[in-house]
Amino acid sequence: MKFIDEVSFYVQSGNGGSGSSSFRREKYVPRGGPDGGDGGKGGDIVFRVNPRLNTLAEYYNKRKFLAPNGQPGEGQRMSGAKGEDLILEVPPGTIIRNEEKKLCDLEEGEVILLQGGRGGRGNWHFKNSINQAPTYSQPGEEGEGETVFLELKLIADVGLLGFPNVGKSTLISRISAAKPKIADYPFTTLTPNLGVVKYADHDSFVVADIPGLIHGAHEGVGLGIQFLRHVERTRLLVHLLDVSGMSGRDPMQDFDDINNELAQYDAKNPSEEDGFIPLSRRPQIVVLNKVDAARSVDVDDLKLQFLKRDIEVRVISAVTGENINSLIEVIGKKVFGED
Ligand code: GDP
Ligand code: MG
Repeated sequence: MKFIDEVSFYVQSGNGGSGSSSFRREKYVPRGGPDGGDGGKGGDIVFRVNPRLNTLAEYYNKRKFLAPNGQPGEGQRMSGAKGEDLILEVPPGTIIRNEEKKLCDLEEGEVILLQGGRGGRGNWHFKNSINQAPTYSQPGEEGEGETVFLELKLIADVGLLGFPNVGKSTLISRISAAKPKIADYPFTTLTPNLGVVKYADHDSFVVADIPGLIHGAHEGVGLGIQFLRHVERTRLLVHLLDVSGMSGRDPMQDFDDINNELAQYDAKNPSEEDGFIPLSRRPQIVVLNKVDAARSVDVDDLKLQFLKRDIEVRVISAVTGENINSLIEVIGKKVFGED
């Protein structure tokens, strides 16, 4: 399914059914009293998290969702049927806003966004000592409507950063059950991939592979930096660099370029959330990948340069599996706060 992380549409809850104005008609009873039943409540608009979803694609190009109205009441004090709630399923990490403000941030469970209108009361409620035969019955209350703006920020523990082709997809497929596309040209990955990595005996963490980061992405080069929103909720960034020398680029320059993109993202997306750490200051582990093919790059020297900058660094091969287990170990420890 297509990856869509921003959509907008109109939602409206159902109107309440009107109360009935009716009088009892029975054999041998000359003037039966009022017996009009109540109208049914209109359907609510409900957003519900479905943990199996990871895109808002099903809302792409949809314009509006209307919950059904309640049915009118009937004679013999029969209430009208309730309008069914309209349930809209969204992936975990969906933020819902209206024109003015943020309404909710859905990680799990569900939220009633708009209540259906109450049903009107039937005429029998209005009988009193003065008026024994009221013809008045209440109309149903109207539903509410508004335009909502949905934004998905995937929920992952670890964000995997790096230029195209450094081996992000290869690594994620190696350490998790995710099967992203792997190829030798840029932008095979056009959507973030999530992979669940088993750690220790009973723990696991979620890694998001963020595509498209290149020099100038913040100015719209390539896929741009839009996908960075999906690392906003990670605790740790794993920054992959290619030491095979095949790209012709300098790994240290790549590292600085991507960190510059993070800083640009931060400048454009200031957050007011409590405890939010800007992406450029999020903890990072540098991973030097493709050590099996390193010929022109002096890996030991590069490693030393990172250590001198006080940056944690690991050397792996996503293809041969070299040092992968110890990488999972380090990442897991950081995610679970064990070091
Ligand atoms: P991504 O764009 O960062 O997701 O990169 P991919 O995972 O698609 O990998 C790009 C290319 O690099 C593919 O041809 C991979 O087979 C190759 N590759 C990835 N990891 C390694 C590695 O550790 N060693 C070698 N020699 N090649 C690798
Ligand atoms: Mg990829």
